Amino acid sequence: MLPEIEKLLVLQDSDQRIRTLQLELLAIPQQRAAKEKTFSELSQQLSQIKFRLREIELEKKRLELDAEAKRESIARYKQQQLQTRKNEEYSALNHEISIAEEKIRSIEDRELELMETIEKLRPLVEQAEKAHVEGRIKLETQLSGLETRKNSLEARIRELQAGRARLTEGVEEDLLDRYTRLFKSKAGQAVVPVEHEVCSGCHMKVTTQTVILVKSEKSITHCPQCGRVLYLCP
Ligand SMILES: [Zn+2]
Repeated sequence: MLPEIEKLLVLQDSDQRIRTLQLELLAIPQQRAAKEKTFSELSQQLSQIKFRLREIELEKKRLELDAEAKRESIARYKQQQLQTRKNEEYSALNHEISIAEEKIRSIEDRELELMETIEKLRPLVEQAEKAHVEGRIKLETQLSGLETRKNSLEARIRELQAGRARLTEGVEEDLLDRYTRLFKSKAGQAVVPVEHEVCSGCHMKVTTQTVILVKSEKSITHCPQCGRVLYLCP
């Protein structure tokens, strides 16, 4: 194998590792956002159910005040009945009393419905509160895990990049430039083997002439289709 190819393969191996680590590093913000979204959904669920419970409790409170006012009215009407001597007025007050009593009955029916809903909602609020607390703990663990992973990825990338210059020693500048461009444009596959007369980069059959050139190991040969540097599989 040509010594330049050997060097490029070692370099490519290291560059591929860097590339894989960089891709993993790039995915971290998205992973973080996904974890935060899951938690914010739990927060939303909690505030929605709490809001619903509060609304119902407020309606119940309003109804209690309404019923109380009606009872006071009834007491007032009865007081007036004691004071009046007119039959007409007396029966008009009776009518008012029965309207108020009817109103109180319908308020009490609604209050019962609301109390049943409140009884159903309370355990759901407790559940949502528990899920929210657990979700926060889980999120903190996940975020700190991602932060640790990020730091270790960055450290590993720095380490590999620091050793990279040594791996390029003895490779001609022109060839190194071509390799670097190919590595970027071909997703980390710049130097590839020819297998059964097929370039394993683009999977196209190469000419016999190309195979002979690669076999002769006299100079660097590129795939005529994709331009990758070719070598013969040992
Ligand atoms: Zn090719």
